[in-house]
Amino acid sequence: MKNRLLAAAAPAVLASLALSGTAAMTLASPALAADAAPKATAPYDGVFAKPSTLPFHAPDFAKIKDSDWKPAIEAGIAQKRAEMKAIANNTAAPTFANTLVAMERAGVLYDRVYNVFSQLTSANTSDALDAVDTEVSPQIAAMEDAIYLDPKLFARVKAVHDSAAGKALTGEDAMLLKTQYAKFVHRGALLSPAQKTELKAMNTEISTLETQFAQQLTQANNAHAVVFDSKEQLAGLSDAQIAAAAERAAKDGKPGKYVLPLINYTQQPVLAQLTNRESRRRVFEESINRASSGDQYDTTGIVTKIATLRAKKAKLLGQPDFGTFQMYDRMINTPAKAMTFMKGFVPALRATQDREAGVLLEAAKADGVTTLQPWDWTYYAEKVRKAKYDLDESAIKPYFEVYNVLENGVFYAANKTYGLTFKRRTDLPVYHPTMRVYEVIDSDGKTPLGLFYFDPFSRPSKRGGAWMNNFVEQSNLLGEKPVIANTLNIDPPAEGQPALASWDDVTTMFHEFGHALHGFFAHQQYPALSGTNTARDFVEFPSQFNENFATVPEVLAHYAKHYKTGAPLPAGLLDKIDAAGKFNQSVGFGETLEAAMLDIKWHTLTPEEAAQPPIEFEKQALASLGLRTDLIPPRYRTPYFRHIWDNGYASGYYSYIWTEVLAHDGWDWVEKHGGMTRANGDHIRTTFLGQGHSKDLDVLYRDFTGHDPELEPMLEARGLSGK
Ligand SMILES: [Zn+2]
Repeated sequence: MKNRLLAAAAPAVLASLALSGTAAMTLASPALAADAAPKATAPYDGVFAKPSTLPFHAPDFAKIKDSDWKPAIEAGIAQKRAEMKAIANNTAAPTFANTLVAMERAGVLYDRVYNVFSQLTSANTSDALDAVDTEVSPQIAAMEDAIYLDPKLFARVKAVHDSAAGKALTGEDAMLLKTQYAKFVHRGALLSPAQKTELKAMNTEISTLETQFAQQLTQANNAHAVVFDSKEQLAGLSDAQIAAAAERAAKDGKPGKYVLPLINYTQQPVLAQLTNRESRRRVFEESINRASSGDQYDTTGIVTKIATLRAKKAKLLGQPDFGTFQMYDRMINTPAKAMTFMKGFVPALRATQDREAGVLLEAAKADGVTTLQPWDWTYYAEKVRKAKYDLDESAIKPYFEVYNVLENGVFYAANKTYGLTFKRRTDLPVYHPTMRVYEVIDSDGKTPLGLFYFDPFSRPSKRGGAWMNNFVEQSNLLGEKPVIANTLNIDPPAEGQPALASWDDVTTMFHEFGHALHGFFAHQQYPALSGTNTARDFVEFPSQFNENFATVPEVLAHYAKHYKTGAPLPAGLLDKIDAAGKFNQSVGFGETLEAAMLDIKWHTLTPEEAAQPPIEFEKQALASLGLRTDLIPPRYRTPYFRHIWDNGYASGYYSYIWTEVLAHDGWDWVEKHGGMTRANGDHIRTTFLGQGHSKDLDVLYRDFTGHDPELEPMLEARGLSGK
């Protein structure tokens, strides 16, 4: 089942960074704030002015009204800006305490309100909240710029960084100085005023082009919806799908025809169903050629401009290429290292692609197909999957009642491994009646670790995906313990029925709780280094690692019980799920790896190289991978690779694969050391799960396993090892 994790991980990564990353720079010395507060602003005295009086300063949802948000956020922004300004203007000589630590103390009000607000706009939004969000977003971006582009503030950080005292710092202090200094430098703080002007112009141009790319791609996706003249051409689709296609055609002004919309991947789900080979070819070709040269919504011109500008920007900042620039704070910190580990998968994957191509061709022969084409792959893969691995989800779901999975599965594993216990709290307010709250108690049976909120069901006011966020972030400096939520999108139960989870939902519950543990075990001094505030190519490691507990026999036996009869999950069902998950890795893993390598290739070009025609470059780049890209093209081709041209994943798409490597290799360590034991739990907690970003991430990993990450356990888990 690991093949679905990549997709499941995607929104979670964004969430981890977007939601818990908000506290990367925190808080406020009241004295400084008073000195520098903008005149004529009445002091804020709303519901967020003081920490809530609830346990752990949990948000008091019973008291917060829609009208509270805007004034609270704006007051938070004003306060944080004033506090940062005061640090920059301090007349005392710069020290670690009066600069770096003071910066960590700045923005308490902002974090208090925004950490709650950002969860509500994601999980329980409304027109009122959306309107506030639209209004405050540019103010927040401006605040970030004002802080990181303030030459006076950077001069102080640099003075500490370059001083003997700065160099003598150790542990978390050293890490805080190092990461904050790097963040300023990354944003151009070392540049001359003229260069800064140039950089600013480049940033504006790049961001305009990124938005243009996204808009044009949306238009291309719409324009390339595939039009069919007859129902017969859609043979294989369900009546409901055909009706929807007819409806879409009518809406598009093509009554009597049928329109299949494109989704933003190369392989379209309908390719698994369409029995007409010519129809499959048409869908596939519209998909893979969208937004390419000659298209009305050709994005390749924009791609050339973005790639060239990014290469120039990296050069201006003294970096060899944009990939190196982008990866400055990652566990894998150069494009070369990323390519090296990914190339390690190529031989096994290539063998799998060749082998599976043979299996599919064999299945296709019955239909008179002599040469397998890329538009045939998904169709015959689905046929083989059905024949060999068919699973009936509705027969599985009764074994996974949601709260039972949570309390007797997710919590049980955390109890056996880490000694944690969980006490339901019905006295604390929630923002939706279906939520549950638990107090998390440490292994001594008495020390509280924090609060856990569980918001499981989908609803119109919640965005898709699953994620973890902090309402309150752990920090010794500020005396805060974590208040954490897991949000999922499980189908809500019908009135009076039990809430049942799919196997994917179960895996996601364990995944998100891995993020939560990363937050609960945090015991960092500084908010910026606490818990999940790590790099993009590390943050999904604890969560993917925690998924492994879902299938530990002792854990599974404890939670997988029929909700009515209490009968255990029938033997062999899980093996069937596992076998199905290992099938079709040619696409499941192959197209992700290809896209990740293409991303790195795009971001290691010089400005001159980046100016070549994108389609030509892509052709060469793909040919050099040693994979069957002719038959299994990357998940995204260049003209519609939105992750890297608009979504901030440039030189970062590999992260999904890397954290999976860590999760499997880490689990291999557990299995070789006696499995789910309290001793192993303590080791995991001490070495990485409780460490936040207090040390270099590769050091944390070696502390845990004693060696650098190895690929073999993941190859085996995905059925690619040939074993
Ligand atoms: Zn995640």
